[in-house]
Amino acid sequence: MAVLELTDNHFVCVDEELMSWLSLFEWTYEDYANCLVRKSGYVCRRSWDKSRLCMDAEIMKHAGLWEPNKVVNHKNSCRMDHRVENLRMATLSQHRRARRPTAQNISGLSGVTLHRPGWWRVSICVGGSSVYLGSYQDIEEAKAVRVAAEIEHFGDFRYDPTDLCPLWETQCPYCQDRAKMTWPTIWGTLTY
Ligand SMILES: [Zn+2]
Repeated sequence: MAVLELTDNHFVCVDEELMSWLSLFEWTYEDYANCLVRKSGYVCRRSWDKSRLCMDAEIMKHAGLWEPNKVVNHKNSCRMDHRVENLRMATLSQHRRARRPTAQNISGLSGVTLHRPGWWRVSICVGGSSVYLGSYQDIEEAKAVRVAAEIEHFGDFRYDPTDLCPLWETQCPYCQDRAKMTWPTIWGTLTY
C-alpha cells in the first residue's frame, strides 16, 4: 500500500503500482463541509473538458474492472481507501445497503432504533418492505440480530463499523469522523 497526498493536504491509500499514474493528476477531496460543487466526500479531479472524474471509477476502468450501469463501492465504506482490493462494482441497491448510517443514527447500525426508553427496535428492509425483527433491551443483542439478518439478506454488501481503512488512526478524515461517533457509548450510560 502507498499513501498519495492530494492537492488539499488530504491523504488516500492506493496501490503502490498505481502511484506514478495517479500522481500525474491533481486530485481533490470533496469535503462534505467545504465543497462548493457537490458535497460528495469523494476524491475527484477535473478532466481537460472540466468534467468531474472520481478516483474510484478511474481506478476501476484502469484495472479493467469497470461495469456499466453499476457504481463503485468501497468495501470498508471508506471513500479515501482506493486500494483495488477495497473496490468493487455494485448495483445501486447493493451500494445503498452497504453505506454507513447517517450521523443521526444513535445505535451505529441502520435498522436499530430506540423506539421507547430502554428498548431497541430492530428491522431490516428486504425487497422494498420493512421486516420487524423484535425489540431488545440490550443494544448489543439488538445489533447482533440486525447483523445476522444483514448477512442472510445482503451477503457481503453490508456495512461493518469495525472495518476501517489503514489510515484511519492518522490521516483519514473519513474514518476519523466515523471513529468519533461515540453516541452508542454515551447513550448506554443514560438511565431512564
Ligand atoms: Zn478511511
